[in-house]
Amino acid sequence: ADPTLDVRNLNVALKGRYGTIRVLNDVSFSVGKGQTLGVVGESGCGKSMTLLAVMRLLPGQASISSGAIRFGGDNLAEVSERRMRQLRGDRISMIFQEPMTALNPVLTVGEQISEALRLHLDISRKAAWDRAVELLQAVRIPAPERRVGEYPHQFSGGMRQRVVIAMAVACEPDLILADEPTTALDVTVQAQIFDQLRELQQRLEASMVLVTHDMGVISEMTQRVVVMYGGMSIEAGDTAEIMRRPAHPYTQGLIACLPELGRTSRQSGVTLPEIAGVVPPLHELGAGCPFAARCAAAMPHCFTRTPPTVSLGEAHEVACWLYSTEEAAA
Ligand code: SF4
Ligand code: MG
Repeated sequence: ADPTLDVRNLNVALKGRYGTIRVLNDVSFSVGKGQTLGVVGESGCGKSMTLLAVMRLLPGQASISSGAIRFGGDNLAEVSERRMRQLRGDRISMIFQEPMTALNPVLTVGEQISEALRLHLDISRKAAWDRAVELLQAVRIPAPERRVGEYPHQFSGGMRQRVVIAMAVACEPDLILADEPTTALDVTVQAQIFDQLRELQQRLEASMVLVTHDMGVISEMTQRVVVMYGGMSIEAGDTAEIMRRPAHPYTQGLIACLPELGRTSRQSGVTLPEIAGVVPPLHELGAGCPFAARCAAAMPHCFTRTPPTVSLGEAHEVACWLYSTEEAAA
C-alpha cells in the first residue's frame, strides 16, 4: 500500500547572517497508514524543521529548496498556500510542545473546538458543540459538559494538552504531526498523554510523525524511526531493530543514556545524554560527518568526506564510514 506520507530528499535552506545554511540535508522517510514514525535527536538537529516543512509553516527565512513531500495526491513541497490551508487541521494536524501555542486564551475550549470543526465540516453550531463535548470525553477530561464552557487558563498543563489533542483529532485527520507533545508537562502526566494519543490515533487509523529527544518514547510509541543529526538522517529503520542493534555511534549514545532497559527515561525524568560535546551550529558544518567532532570512533576521512548511506538489512540504514566498504581514500 502507498504510504500516507512520503518525504524524499527534502532540503531546507535558511538565509541568515552566515549566508545560506542547509538546515535539512536530503531527508527521506515515509509513514504507512496507522503507523507511527519517530524522529529523534537533540535540539537543533532539524526535527522540528522537518515537521514545519511538512506543515509548510517554516519560519520566514527558511524555505524548501528541493525534494518532495507526497501526501495523498499532493506534493506539499509545491502546492498552493490555499490548498495547504484546506489540508491543515482537516487532513493533517499538528500538536506542538507548548499547548498555549495552539489555544486562543479568549475563547472557551468549546468555542475553539467547534470553530475548528465548522471550518472543515458542514455542521450546525449545536452539532459542533456536542461533538466538542464528546471529544473532551474521548481525551478523558472529567465533567466534559461543564469544562467545555471554560477557558484554557482554567485547565492544568496536562488537561490543556488533552484539549489540544482533542482539537487535533477533531476532524479525523489522516496524519498527525506531534512535536515533543509532553515536554512541557510533568513526568507522571506524560505517560497518560502518550497513551491517549496512541489510543485516538489507532482508533482513527491515522499516521503519526512523533518528534522527541527521548529514545524511551521512541521505543514505546513508534514502529519506525529516523535519527537526525546536523540536519541529516544518520540512521533509520525499524524501531525494534535499531533499539536492539543501533549502528551509528550517535544512536548508540542516545540509547546508552536510557536509565535502564525496559524503563523509559520519561518515567525517570532523565533528559538528554551523556554524549560529550554539543551539537555544532549548522553554519559550522562543512564536508564530512556532522558527528565527527564528538565521535570516539572518528577516522581522518570522517572530517572531510560525507559518509555514504549503507543498508544494514531490509529495514535499517546508517550513514557512517564504519559500515562502508567504499574505499575511503578514493
Ligand atoms: Fe563517527 Fe566517522 Fe561514523 Fe561519523 S562517519 S559517526 S565520525 S565513525
Ligand atoms: Mg524542536
